Formats: sequence, C-alpha cells, structure tokens
Amino acid sequence: MNIKYVWLNGLVLLAPQLAFSAEHVILVSVDGLRPEAIQQLGKEQLPAFFRFREQGAWTDNARTDFDYTRTLPNHASMMTARGVTGANGHGQSDNDMPELSTTLHNNTGKEAYVSSVFDVTHDHGLSTSLYASKSKFILYEQTYNEESGATDTTGADNGTDKIDYYLFRAPDRTANALITQYVEDMRKQHFNFSFLHITDTDGAGHGDRWRTPRYMDALIRVDGYLQKLFDLINSDVELSDTTIILVADHGGAGRSHGDETDYENYRIPFYVWASNPDGTAFALGGKELYELNQRTRMEPGTSRPDYNEVIQPIRNGDAANLALELLGLPAIPDASAMINAKQDLDIGL
Ligand SMILES: [Zn+2]
Repeated sequence: MNIKYVWLNGLVLLAPQLAFSAEHVILVSVDGLRPEAIQQLGKEQLPAFFRFREQGAWTDNARTDFDYTRTLPNHASMMTARGVTGANGHGQSDNDMPELSTTLHNNTGKEAYVSSVFDVTHDHGLSTSLYASKSKFILYEQTYNEESGATDTTGADNGTDKIDYYLFRAPDRTANALITQYVEDMRKQHFNFSFLHITDTDGAGHGDRWRTPRYMDALIRVDGYLQKLFDLINSDVELSDTTIILVADHGGAGRSHGDETDYENYRIPFYVWASNPDGTAFALGGKELYELNQRTRMEPGTSRPDYNEVIQPIRNGDAANLALELLGLPAIPDASAMINAKQDLDIGL
C-alpha cells in the first residue's frame, strides 16, 4: 500500500492508498459454505477455489455477524458494513420472504436510511447489479430501488435506483442458470460492481446435511461457476482489471445453521483474487489474510468475538468497504457502517 498526504482542516493526515484500482469488482456469496469442505475436496476437485488460495489472499477463519448466522441478516451486513443488532445495526434479523413494503430502512421502525455499497458505487456514477438465487433477496431490491433509494448528493445526480439491474433466477434451486445469465449479461454490460448469490451449498446442506456427498457435489458445481467467472475475465479485455471477493453468509452443521454460537456456523471463508490489466492473476501470492493484517485484525482461533472487541476478526461485513476501496471509492459514509470503515483490510496490493 502507498501512503498519500491529505490536507484536512489544516491537519495532515496519512491516508492509505491502493497502488491498484479495479474497474470491476464481483462480490460472490456462496450460501452455507464451510471452509473445511474446501480443504477436504482439495485442489483437484476444486481448482477454482484453489486459484483464490494460491494466487489471491484468503482466510478460512473469517466470521459472520455476531448475533445471527442466517442468510438475509448476513447478506445485509455484506452490503452495508453493519452488524445486525444495536444502534449501529442494519436491523434485518428476519430471514423470511419480506413483505412488499419491507426495506432495510424501515425493518425496525427506526426509519433511518441504511446506505450500502450499492449507494456509494452508484452515486459515483458506476454501474451496479445484484444476481440472486433465492427469491427473498427481493428485500435488497425493494430497499435500493427508485422509490426507496436515497437522493444522490455526490457529484452528478445518478438517481435513486441504486441497483441498476436485479435478477432472481433459480429454476432448479441452483445458481446454474443465474451464473450463465450473469456471464452473458456481463459481456455486454460490464457492471462495475456485481453481487452474485449462489444457493447450491445451502440447499444441499438443508436438504441432506452439511458435508455429505450431496453437499460436496454442490460445492464442486459451485467451483464450476467460479471457473466461468475466471473464463469471463480472461476472455474479455474490458474485464481484465477485475477483482473477485468470495465470502459466505454462514456455515452449517447437521441440517441447519441457525445456532449462532456454533463454530461450524459462524466460521466462514473470505477469499480475494485480483487480475492484472492483461487478465492474468495479480501477484497476491496466496497470502493468508490474518498474516497480512496482524495489526488491524485478530485471528479469532475458535472464538466468537463480539463488536465490542477493539481489534475485530475479519468478517463477511468487511466485503462492502473492501469492494469500494478496490473501486477507488470512499467507505460507506454513515458512522453506523463500522465494519472496515477505515478500509484497512489489507489484501496485499
Ligand atoms: Zn444462507
């Protein structure tokens, strides 16, 4: 990381500045992904996952939200850099199909606007998309559509619809058709920021159990989706400077993942891979993220730190402000968006 000097009210501040800036960021959430399953299957069966581990920056020991290991609460954290509960929380504790009128702004009755990675990206004139393989993700579209999105006060007015394109598709309860459509769309649209949600592993875990052969088959299928993303980046010169962030909303044990005190539920992977302008892998070198972030993040072992810890573990909620940093954009401005608010999660760039 380079250091630049910033003048602010007569004070000289040291601000970290990436030597690298991506024009495109793809944030992938693999629903119910257990890192042990990646380790168990290994490189031969999961070559795309291991591409992150060997060429990118990664950890198998990131954390979910403290209070919730469920889908909608944790995806809201990935988008808004907030935990779920408390004064700073985004408030989305419910995990069911939302009412048509429900948004992250009104879900607690507080009626406070909850800004997100979609707001900052869109307000700076960049394009955004959300591709989901569970229908309840309509919650986020309802939250950031033309009616519910905030007025754009940053530079030119890019409007209130913060998610340029939203698609839910899962005809066979997998993300296969969704990813195929995304790759096709991306060749034409080149969205600067994309959020992809992959349901396959969660479906197999609930339908059978976590880490059964059915779950492992789903994980191999997901590896194929990731390979399609790498192929997309490598085959389109306009996408050659793309970074992929891969996280999970929660793990899972037995047939469920609702117990937020269970290590197998709150432990998740956090992987990053970046490409050079020629489409080849950026030399991140397969570094472990806690080794890169010894001063700013705490390797939690098997523990479950809450938000009162001064030094936090790496969480799926780090993804929002990391994505913005990679796009050369500031963090989500609200004081409540505390996770990675300093954009100091170092991925070795
Ligand atoms: Zn989930």
